This record gives sequence, C-alpha cells and structure tokens, in this order.
Amino acid sequence: MKPQLILLGAPGSGKGTQAARLVSELGYEHISTGDLLRKEIKSGSELGQRVQGIMDEGKLVDDHTVLELLNSNCDLKSNQYIFDGFPRNHEQAKLLDGEVLKDAKSRAVYFEIDLDMLAARLINRRTCSGCGEIYNLLSKAPAKEGVCDKCGAELTQRKDDNEETVKTRLQVFKDTVEPVLSYYEAEGRLGRIDASAAPDAVFDSLKKQTEL
Ligand code: AMP
Repeated sequence: MKPQLILLGAPGSGKGTQAARLVSELGYEHISTGDLLRKEIKSGSELGQRVQGIMDEGKLVDDHTVLELLNSNCDLKSNQYIFDGFPRNHEQAKLLDGEVLKDAKSRAVYFEIDLDMLAARLINRRTCSGCGEIYNLLSKAPAKEGVCDKCGAELTQRKDDNEETVKTRLQVFKDTVEPVLSYYEAEGRLGRIDASAAPDAVFDSLKKQTEL
C-alpha cells in the first residue's frame, strides 16, 4: 500500500505540477488547501469572505479553519492522498497526524530548491481556467498567448502571484519550514528531492518516495 504523501516546499517549487502527474500516473487524489480556500472565496461563502484579505496579503489563514476545510474534503478510508499546502507550520503537522492521518501510513517529501529563484517563477505563473494545467511564461509558455495548449481555455494569473504578495509568501515559508522538516525528520518520515531538476527527473525521485 502506497503511503499518503505530504508535499512540503516553497510556493512555486513545483508541488502542483508534480501532484498532477502523481494523480494521472499513480492514482493519487490531490488535495490542495490553497485550492480549497480559493474555491471558498469564489463561492462567496462566509469562510471565503473571512480568508480573502489574509490570502491577498500572502499570510497564513488560522490553523483550525484550514484543518476543518481539509477534514471535510478528504476520506482516508477510500483514497490515497497527496497533501499539498498543508502543513504550513509545526502545529499543522501535529494536527495532520492527530486529526486527519491518525494511523495511516504517510511520508513527507521536501522539494528542495534555491528560494531566490522562486519569485520570478511565481510572478510568471499562469494557470488554465479550464483544466488546471500550469504554465510559466519563462520556461513553459503556451503556444498562443493567454490560451491553454491542452484545452483552449483562458489562462489566468493567481491574485497572490504579484511581486509584493510573493515576497510575503516566501518570507512566511522561510519563517515556518524548519520546525516542520525537523518534525518529520525526527520520525524518519522525511524524504528530500532536488526540485530544481528537470520535471521528469523530479517525478522519478518523487515516485521512489512512494515506494518506501
Ligand atoms: P497555496 O495555493 O498553497 O500557495 O496557498 C495560497 C494561500 O492560501 C496561502 O498564501 C495562505 O494564505 C492560504 N493557505 C493555503 N494553505 C494554508 C495552510 N495550510 N495554512 C494556512 N494558510 C494556508
């Protein structure tokens, strides 16, 4: 049985792109707390209204709000998940174990990459509004500007992928990541992969982690 996978890495380190491949090739379900929160904002729910300003600033939403959202959107009895964007701090790592994973086998994988190159990556990121394919104007531009190569839908830019918010998001990451890594390392549940490698090589490393 493959482990539940916890992807750890800075914004823009490639977690979303790799998660999409794990879904199509290994049958995992992808659960991204950022996506769940953006869905709440789009729907205009009370929760969405409450978190919008925090997300626009690039700060973290409170632990219990995100935990509740996560818990109500996953069913570990029947699915193998990739957790993307959760945990973001030490408290969330403990909550994920205690309230969500419980006895399930799990492995955390850290996407190691030089953080200084990520701001440009994020500012140039575009996402397809139809199929979710992720592009980058610097390294993976669409053939036709603003249009998805795969499904022809419009490409959009995330509201928090602007220079100022990106700076805050990367700083928040730097301030919170170490205790999370130590938590999983202490339990022998942490793998590290080189996220600056070519996407196929990153995927191969990631796949090996699911076999441990
Ligand atoms: P992401 O899509 O993972 O880059 O997340 C986008 C934004 O959603 C973050 O900058 C936070 O404001 C919020 N967010 C996502 N996941 C979490 C989390 N686990 N804890 C707190 N805030 C989160």
